Amino acid sequence: MIKKIDHLGIAVTKLEDAIPFYRDILGLAYHGQEEVADQKVKTAFFEAGDVHIELLEPTSPDSPIAKFIEKNGGRGGIHHIAYAVDDVADSLAKLTAKGVALVDKAPRAGANNKLIAFLHPKSSAGVLTELCADKK
Ligand code: ZN
Repeated sequence: MIKKIDHLGIAVTKLEDAIPFYRDILGLAYHGQEEVADQKVKTAFFEAGDVHIELLEPTSPDSPIAKFIEKNGGRGGIHHIAYAVDDVADSLAKLTAKGVALVDKAPRAGANNKLIAFLHPKSSAGVLTELCADKK
């Protein structure tokens, strides 16, 4: 079901403040910014070999990322791990059958023209876990 780690999601208070570290200091290839209205975030993607780094800045105080930063003492940090799968809906059905708690019961639109869904951290050792697949 899982093909590989697709990306690591990192919450930041401001993309502009975080981008230079990843782009200029680490020298990762920068793939630009995108707003994901559904999740009330702006994202910036970088390439680290086969894995991407997704920076997430909240666009609204009720964004899940704004709440994460608030709980984290006003700082950003690692927010989620995303695994690439062939089919998000099919994976959700298989995980539900195994008793895994879900945040998203159906796939929704994510950044980079992907379908995504989050699993509940109570079923994933406390780590917010995302499944993602290219839209077909
Ligand atoms: Zn993600």
